Amino acid sequence: LDRQANAFAAYLRRTLPGDAPILLYGHKELALPVCMFGALRAGHGYIPVDTTYPPERVAQIAAQARPGLLVDLGGAALDGVPALDAAALDEILAQPAAPAPREHWLRPEQTAYTLFTSGSTGVPKGVQITAGNLEAFHRGVRPWFDGMREGGAFLNEISYSFDVSVCALYEALGRGMTLWTADRQTLSDPKALFALLRESELDEWVSTPSLAELCVQSEQFCAALMPRLRQFLFCGEVLSKKLTEELFRRFPDVPVVNAYGPTEASVLVTAARMTRQMLDADAPLPIGRPFSTVEARIAGPDGQTLPDGEAGELLLISDAVSPGYLGRDELNAKSFFRTEDGRRGYHSGDLCRMEDGMIWYLGRLDNQVKLNGFRVELEDVENNLMRVPNVARAAVLPQMQDGAVTSLTAYLLLEHPDGESALQRTRRIKAELARTLPAYMIPRKLVVVPEFPLNTNGKIDRKKLSAMR
Ligand code: AMP
Repeated sequence: LDRQANAFAAYLRRTLPGDAPILLYGHKELALPVCMFGALRAGHGYIPVDTTYPPERVAQIAAQARPGLLVDLGGAALDGVPALDAAALDEILAQPAAPAPREHWLRPEQTAYTLFTSGSTGVPKGVQITAGNLEAFHRGVRPWFDGMREGGAFLNEISYSFDVSVCALYEALGRGMTLWTADRQTLSDPKALFALLRESELDEWVSTPSLAELCVQSEQFCAALMPRLRQFLFCGEVLSKKLTEELFRRFPDVPVVNAYGPTEASVLVTAARMTRQMLDADAPLPIGRPFSTVEARIAGPDGQTLPDGEAGELLLISDAVSPGYLGRDELNAKSFFRTEDGRRGYHSGDLCRMEDGMIWYLGRLDNQVKLNGFRVELEDVENNLMRVPNVARAAVLPQMQDGAVTSLTAYLLLEHPDGESALQRTRRIKAELARTLPAYMIPRKLVVVPEFPLNTNGKIDRKKLSAMR
């Protein structure tokens, strides 16, 4: 990794002046971490884009981020951006290279990575994270990862497009652990996944609860499968009591940690070890206490800080807070702020309650949902639906089960009757959507309605809508 990263850094220094970011389009290839660290050592940031994103969405990302180079392991072929395919990259990484000098490395105020997440306008928005933000995350998360063992095994299941993968890339690799990579194919094949879990003798587990939900469906998922496991750390979506209960039973000696954080505040900002007492309480499981590097406030509608126990928006103040979305001044003015003493803050959009420093997540204040761990703005899907021919208006609603989103349903108003069967129409619209949206954002069910029920404000009445089938 070290040698190849130096080779990539040397190549960038030779061929790409300036600090334009490197767009990395791929899935879980070994070359991706090499390119990330190589880019940083040559003074460039990077933009990891998973191949679940179709080429048109990659083009939308490139139009905003203006990469200087595309490492194209997935066939995106962007107009006007020089590209390296897998063979060309292999050749570069095989070249001998001296260690990249420290003075070439990315500086703390420069953007290390830009992650594109679902945006309500229908095109993804880029969260910029500086090297300084990453450093602050590292300092904050340290107590949760200090027990990691050099040479130990770390589960690498999260796509590099999502920032939880930073735990594998920086925290685990930085401590000399080995990443056991579960790619898309492995994750969709329980036999292959369990074989990996058995063979790897995992020391550390970091994932969304969704993956563990899948695993506990098999009785094989127990302490005997992973006898070395030191800790489960979950993040990214609600951790249910049911899952936690199940893990307590099957892994009696392994702590279960619920951690929380938005991409905009660098991966994670709070965490707590789950206890029997928390499971027995009436409240949902807490998302933990802020890291020592983070100040959390609960704010009322006018921005005033609320007293302990009252529900309001969670504000996060930390050196780990992003300088903002790429090129979105208006949105940045709404989402980010500075404190009286000049520290950076972020409006999380999460409705929370805090008591004695412990925080409970109660839901979203907007139309963002988590679907199998993926962050989706419902308006993003709606806006893409309205670009499909003959769709006049669209509303997307999440289907819920036990407090978790299980799928999306789209309600559509057509411009004129199309003469298609429901099946034909669904196929056609889904195919259109797949050109711009990753598969996880495509609604499972499409319902054509004769008109939208409106509330007194003239907005779509989502409650009434959900009753229409
Ligand atoms: P992302 O930027 O993809 O990590 O998504 C961040 C959002 O996921 C947060 O603002 C929350 O809405 C949600 N989230 C993250 N961690 C948790 C958690 N432990 N429990 C509940 N929701 C979470």
